[in-house]
Amino acid sequence: MSERTLVLVKPDGVERGLVGEVVARIERKGLRLAAMDLRVAQRSVAEEHYAEHKDKPFYGDLLDFITSGPLVAIAVEGPRAIAAFRQLAGGTDPVEKATPGTIRGDFALETQYNLVHGSDSPESAERELKLWFPNL
Ligand code: ADP
Ligand code: MG
Repeated sequence: MSERTLVLVKPDGVERGLVGEVVARIERKGLRLAAMDLRVAQRSVAEEHYAEHKDKPFYGDLLDFITSGPLVAIAVEGPRAIAAFRQLAGGTDPVEKATPGTIRGDFALETQYNLVHGSDSPESAERELKLWFPNL
C-alpha cells in the first residue's frame, strides 16, 4: 500500500544547508527516497508546477523565487507518503500554521520562504511527479 509524493527542498533550503535535515526527517519517518536530484528549475516547469496559483498576487514572486537557484527534487515513497510528508512539513505559514517539530515550524519565518514543497493529493502527486521526474 505504498504511494509516491513529490518533495522539493526549495532554493532557500538548499542555500541554508538544510537538505540533509529534510532528508533525515523523511527517512526517520520511515519513508524512502525513490529519486533525488539537485537542479535549477526551468521557468516553464515552475509555471506548470504552481499553475493552481496563477491568479494569486504572489504568483510572480513565487516563480522568481523557485527558479532563483538550485533546489532538490525528491520522489518520496511509502505508506501514506503524501499526507505523511505534509505532516512533516507543517502548515504553509511557518509561524501562524506550522507547529514546532515540523520542518517549517522549526526552520522558517516567512510564508514564501517556507523551505519545502509536498504534493497535496494523489492527483497532484501524479501530475507533479510526471513533471519533475518524467522517467521515473
Ligand atoms: P503549500 O506549499 O503549503 O502547499 P500553497 O500551495 O498554498 O502552500 O502555496 C504554494 C507556495 O506559495 C507556498 O509554499 C509558499 O512558498 C507560497 N505562498 C503561499 N501563500 C503565500 C503568500 N500569502 N505570500 C507569499 N507566498 C505564498
Ligand atoms: Mg500547495
